Amino acid sequence: MARIEPVKQRIVLLGPPASGKGTQAELIRAEFGIETPSIGAILREQKAAGTPLGRAAARFTEEGRLVPDEIILDLARTWLDAHDDAFVFDGFPRTVGQAEALEHLLNERGTPLEMAISLEADAETIRERVRRRLACGTCGVIVSAGLHVESAASPCTRCGGALARRADDTPETLEQRLVEYREKSEPLIAFYAGRGILASIAADGGPERVFAEVAAVLRS
Ligand code: AMP
Repeated sequence: MARIEPVKQRIVLLGPPASGKGTQAELIRAEFGIETPSIGAILREQKAAGTPLGRAAARFTEEGRLVPDEIILDLARTWLDAHDDAFVFDGFPRTVGQAEALEHLLNERGTPLEMAISLEADAETIRERVRRRLACGTCGVIVSAGLHVESAASPCTRCGGALARRADDTPETLEQRLVEYREKSEPLIAFYAGRGILASIAADGGPERVFAEVAAVLRS
C-alpha cells in the first residue's frame, strides 16, 4: 500500500463507551487511508445476519458485558489474516489478555503495534453522548442527535437509511459497560504506558478538536 504520509500505521483506540473511538477511527481513515476494523460493529453485523457467533455474542453485548476473549481473538486474527498490516482497531483490545494475545500475533508477523491512543471522557459526558447516539440500521454509521442529525426520525447522513438507538445504549446497559470498562479495560492504559506507546487525549471536546490532537500524535 502506498504510504502518503509517515504516520503511525498500527494503532489501537482505547476508551470508555461513547468516548469517540468510532468517530476518531473514521476521521483517521478519511485523513490517512488506514482501515478501521471495529469488533463491536462486526458483532452487530453477525447478530443481524443471525449467525451462531452473532447469537452467542449477543448474550453478552445485550447485557453490557464483554464478549469472551476466545471469540474476540478469533475475529481479530481472521481480520488480520485477510488485511494489510495497517489498521486502527476501535475498541480492541478490551482486556489485558486480549492485549497480550494481540502483541504476540503482531510480533509473530514482524509488524508490532505502534501506538495506543486512550480517549478520556468523564462519566457525565459519556451518559449525555449515549442519550443522543443513534445508529443506522443499514450502513451502521453512528451519529448524534442534535449534532449530525436533528432527531431519530431523520435519515442517515451517509446512506439515507433509518436511524435507531443501539440495543446496548440503554441507561442500565451503559452502567454495566462502564463497570466492565473500569474493571477490565482501564488496566490497558498502564499496559501500553509500560510498552512506551501510549498517548492519552482528552476526548470531551468536539470531534474535530480531538482529531487535531490524534493526528498530531500519529505524525509524531
Ligand atoms: P462497541 O461497538 O465497541 O461499543 O462494542 C459493543 C459491544 O461489543 C461491547 O459492549 C462488548 O459487549 C462487545 N465487544 C466489542 N469489542 C469487544 C472486545 N474487544 N472484547 C470484548 N467484547 C467486545
